[in-house]
Order: sequence, then C-alpha cells, then structure tokens
Amino acid sequence: MASCTSIPPVAEDASRDLHSYANPSQVRVSHVEMDLTADFERRNLSGTCTLTVAGDGTELVLDTRDLEIGGVDVADGDGYAPAEFSLGDSDPILGSPLRIRRGTADTVRIDYSTSPSASGLQWLEPRQTAGRKHPFLYTQSQAIHARSWIPVQDTPAVRVTYGAHIRVPPGLRAVMSAETASADAPSGNYRFRMPMAIPSYLIALAVGDLAFEPTGERTGVYAEPSVVRAAAKEFEDTEAMMRRVEELYGPYRWGRYDILVLPPAFPFGGMENPRLTFVSPTVIAGDKSLVSLIAHELAHSWSGNLATNATWRDFWLNEGFTVYIEERIQEAVYGPERAAMESSLEVAALKDEMDELAARDQILHVDLADRDPDDGFTGVPYIKGAMFLRTIEDNVGRDVFDPFLRSYFEEFAFRSVTTAQFAEYLERNLLANRPDVAGEVSLTEWLERPGLPTVRHEPVSDALEAVAKVAGQWVAGAILAREIDTSNWTTQHWLRFLRELPVDLGADRLVELDDVFGLTSAGNAEILCEWLVLSTVNEYAAANGTVEEFLTTVGRRKFLRPLYEQLVKTEDGTVRARAIYRKARPGYHPMAVQSIDRIVDWDVALSP
Ligand SMILES: [Zn+2]
Repeated sequence: MASCTSIPPVAEDASRDLHSYANPSQVRVSHVEMDLTADFERRNLSGTCTLTVAGDGTELVLDTRDLEIGGVDVADGDGYAPAEFSLGDSDPILGSPLRIRRGTADTVRIDYSTSPSASGLQWLEPRQTAGRKHPFLYTQSQAIHARSWIPVQDTPAVRVTYGAHIRVPPGLRAVMSAETASADAPSGNYRFRMPMAIPSYLIALAVGDLAFEPTGERTGVYAEPSVVRAAAKEFEDTEAMMRRVEELYGPYRWGRYDILVLPPAFPFGGMENPRLTFVSPTVIAGDKSLVSLIAHELAHSWSGNLATNATWRDFWLNEGFTVYIEERIQEAVYGPERAAMESSLEVAALKDEMDELAARDQILHVDLADRDPDDGFTGVPYIKGAMFLRTIEDNVGRDVFDPFLRSYFEEFAFRSVTTAQFAEYLERNLLANRPDVAGEVSLTEWLERPGLPTVRHEPVSDALEAVAKVAGQWVAGAILAREIDTSNWTTQHWLRFLRELPVDLGADRLVELDDVFGLTSAGNAEILCEWLVLSTVNEYAAANGTVEEFLTTVGRRKFLRPLYEQLVKTEDGTVRARAIYRKARPGYHPMAVQSIDRIVDWDVALSP
C-alpha cells in the first residue's frame, strides 16, 4: 500500500525546540570557553564563561537554571565593556532565560556561579566514594541540565566547540568530554579542548581521586584507584567493539574513547559523553555480562553524538539507533545467542512497560509540550526505536541496510536531525527503490502511533526459552531448585528465570530458591534488583535488610524506581519506603530525587 509509505505530516513547529529559550536563528553561539573553580566546601562552580557568537540579532538569549549571574561583559575593542542583561522568571522545567544586549559584539563573557542544588551537578561526600577519602563531583547535562552549570543555548539544535580551564583542590584529577590539553595535579589546574562541535548536553566534567588504566591503543578506563583494575578487565573488549562499529558505519571520529567509572550514586547506567563515557559501577559484574552498556555508549559516538536528535521529541533517533547498533556489536563480539538473549529480554520488558504507559508516551515521535524532557526517558525511544530499524533490516537485508545507515551517518555527521528529516532520508534513499518493503513497514504507524505495529521484528532466544521451561517446571513442583543446572547461567538466564515466576509465588517458595542459589547475597546488581522486587511483592522478610542496604548504596534510577514502586503498594511498605528514603535521599542525584519524591509522595511524608 503506497499510502503507508507517505512521510508523516509534520506540525509547523516540530523542529522548534520547546525546551529552550535560546534564539539561535537570530544569534548563535559557536564556542564556549569556561574558566571555573570547583569549590567542594560551598558546593559550587564559579568563574566565567566566554561565548563566541554570530548572527543578525542584537539580543542574545541563553538558558540558565539557578545560576547566580555576577555580571555580563561584551568584547569592546581590545577589552570588555559591561553589557545590559536581565534574568527572566524561573520556570520549573525550563529555568530562566538570560537576555543579553550584545549589540554587534562577537564575544560575550558571563561571570557566574552555580547553585549548591544545581540539577546537573552532584557533589559527593568522601563516604559516597569507593576510597572514602576524597570528595567527588560529576555533571549530568542530558537532557536540559547543562543550563544549571553553564549559561548556554541549551538545545541539541545548537552545536559548539569548547575549551575549559578547571581549578580543583590539589591532588584531585579533573576529566572532561574533551582532550586534556594540560594537567597539573599538584596545583589542581587542568585545561581541556573539544575541537569538534557538540550539543550542550554532551559537555561533561568530573573531579575526583581518579586513576587511569589503558585497555587498548585508543581506549582506557578512569576510576577510583581501588576500582580501576577490575574495570579495565571488565571493559577489555572495548577496542574490539570499536573496530566492529567502524567496519559497519565508518571511522570513529573523536580520537580517544575512554570510560569513566563513577561512584554508585550515578543515576544512569551510562552517559555517552564524547571521548569519555560515564558509567555506573553496577555494570562491573565480573563476567562481562553487562558490557552491552559499553557497546551502547560507544554506539552513541555515531548515533547521537555525531548525528544528533534536533529536539527531545526526536530522542528516539539517538536511542533507537543506538540500541540497534548495540545489538549488532554484541552479536559480532559475543555471538548471536548473546545478542538474542539481550534483545528478547528488552522487548519483553518494553511490552510490560507499554501496558502501563499512556498512549501518547508509546509514540516514537513523542509530544513533550509543557513536559520535562526527562519524562520521555522510557523504553519506547530505545527498544521500540530499535525494533523499527530491525524490522526494516529484516525486510531489506543487511547488504542494503548497513550501507544505508553508513550513508545516513555520513550525511548527518555533526548535524542535528529531526524525525521528519530522517523519514524523508529513509524514503528517498531506501524505500523509494523498494515499494515491496514500503508496503510492509508503515512510517506513520511506527513514528506517529502508539502500540507496536503488527509487522515487526520479534527477537527469539532458544537459550532463554529453555530457561523459561525450567522455571515453569519448578513452579509446577515437577523439579526442585537444587535439580536446576545453573552452572552456565549468565545474568540474562537469571533475569529470564526470575521474570518467569508468578508474582504471587509466596515467601516459602522464595526460601527454597534463596537457600539453593543465595540470591539475597547476589553481587550482580541486575539479578539482585530483580530478586529484591520479587522478595518485596512476596513479603519475604529475610531480604528486607538487603533491600535497605541496596537502596542506600546504589543511586541508579533503573534499580531505585521498581523497588520503591513495589514498596509503596502496601501500607507497611510505604512506611518502610519513606524511612529508607529519608536516609538515602541526601545521597541520591537530583534527577533520582525528582523521580523518587513522586513515588513515595515525599511532600506528604514530610507534612505533619
Ligand atoms: Zn543511550
């Protein structure tokens, strides 16, 4: 049906970023130069940010959130002259616009400091680190948190190069999503340069007691000294992963690819900051079973960092492509069965999640008007996005789809892309030659409608189907737990086994599993979280202490959410959840706090 292939209608303002006050069509920032001091006592960054700008407009509008602006100067002859500026009212989602009368000046310097509660910064106490001796600072700028630590045009539609002089307490090391130009640890002075133009959400900084260990010619790991060895071992295949993506989609364009292991408070699994992926220590499982996360963040060096979503509505272009590439990497490096296990688990989890999501949130080209872009971080842009690409691949074959994606990354390298632009590119360069495929794969249905289209790629893992069968036999009482051969099981086998169990299994059945498999003391965070959720549903009291310990030491939102959500389903659980949260909250990242506050009704819990 030819009508199915037509490009989805695009609203007038689909390419306009609703999450930024900036006015790049009048004045556009092209370079950001920071000179900042990290003060761990005051918990702020302060100094100057000098912007190179161009365009016809005389007023420059920047995004800020909770920044204290000391003054604004514009270039005037050989020096600077004060400029008129005003800081607008603060919007809970967008922050405050900073309007600067720049006239025709091409350089604007802002003197500022950040708030101790800046949404994009987390200041950790020494006790929250592995070494427990030194404090730690890291940034998380995606989606719109760069504005809480740098006054910028905080939209992925604007790309900037950047440089920085960062001053830190003597002895600590600073790292950024950039080349280190000079490092003087004894004095705490670091200089960085990022010569490639990137969107503001990829500007990143971390400061702490960091050691480095190489894992290849272009790759290495930064982590606290007690963690760096294990991390380097776990991530030793990074170079092989890079070579595989390069074969598929063209050269890696960023020079080095290093990984920074953060303390456990980091709210995400990973963040694809260019040249320096940030990861949660919870992916170090000891058996490389969770390194698909590294494959994912590395894949972003093409999908996301190179060809970037133009607005947060187009987030699936970053994440769907990245999950697709992640699966291709896993398949090449660890084999097809591993890739099939991982994607079948992800698709099953997506279907469960979609049952709970409102229809509007099941759409790839999601409508985020008047909403926080962080609300768009569901499985939909990731897994449904990847299913869409996998479905095209199934229909055209890899010999057609691989070169197509390679040409897409070349076409849009260092550019921002809207969903409509991608749809048009796909139509013109692939579907136009294949009316048979165009009839099967409806772009309108995939991009603009809720649910999953009937024609779609469904991953199947024979290994996990076998695990499901064993789980069924155990539930039915046909076999005992000790008769199950788990000697070759990886994280994926365990996750499938646990997810196959009926939720209302009963605490005494959990006792049998725990006695045989020691699940309450599992060292693997994915398996442990799954088990603790099951224990909570079934009121398996022996796991209560571990639930509390887990929630007070790990800050990764993926693990916090399901546990707190499960706890608050009962009255007793709600009391426990709030008591645990009271202890844990000061150690969580602002983004995790925002999510968990909602789950436990923190305002209500605080009121007398
Ligand atoms: Zn991602």
